[in-house]
This record gives sequence, C-alpha cells and structure tokens, in this order.
Amino acid sequence: MTERVINLKSFFEEARAGRLTGIRCGGCGELAIPPKEYCAGCQQRDWHLVPLSGAGTIASFTVIRVAPRGRGGEVPYAVAVVRLEEGVSLLGRIVDIPFETLRAGLPVRFRPVQMEAETLIGFGPA
Ligand SMILES: [Zn+2]
Repeated sequence: MTERVINLKSFFEEARAGRLTGIRCGGCGELAIPPKEYCAGCQQRDWHLVPLSGAGTIASFTVIRVAPRGRGGEVPYAVAVVRLEEGVSLLGRIVDIPFETLRAGLPVRFRPVQMEAETLIGFGPA
C-alpha cells in the first residue's frame, strides 16, 4: 500500500519537473506506466523507477467538447493515447497541436501541463 503511494507521488513529482518516469518490475522486467500496485505479468510488487524519453506517437485521440465536471473552462481539448518509444502507452492531454492535424502515428513529446493545483500528463509537438 505505502509502496504504491510512494510510486504515484514520485511519478507526479517527476512529471511536474518535466521528467516522465515509468516503473520496471524487478521480478520480470515489465514496464508499467502510470504506476500500479502489482505487476500484471508476475504479480510481484518490486517496482523500480526508470526514466523515459517522453517521445512517442499518437495511437488514438479524442477531442473533448463537453467537459467533465470541473473542467468547464478547458474545452475543447484533445486527449490521446500515446505509445512511447519504450513500448508502453499512456493517456495524456494534447497541447499546442491543432485538432485538425491530429492523426494516429503523429510524433509527440511529453510535457507537463500545470493546472491550478495539479499536474496533468500532456503531449506537445515532437
Ligand atoms: Zn513482473
């Protein structure tokens, strides 16, 4: 339980500083992002933080026009599933890329998106 909390905290602290991290299982080597409690591959909980390049390509995306609760001032915005160079996929907010140019396979790069009190995972132009 505590290990999970520490991993999540580190993940977002690093993200805020502009560094994307994944966690690698000490049991089987599986890479996971964002952090989870147990390895899906071998059920162990032996995570090690690993730095990721932050470079990837869009796997799929959606333009959000009707805001979830509390995000009324932010629409429209795009979110995308980005497949990182390291082979893991991650959901993030798209920034500084016009909606009409979004497509699967578009290269993007991680960047933190600082909202009022939280840091979102974001991706901008590569
Ligand atoms: Zn494992």
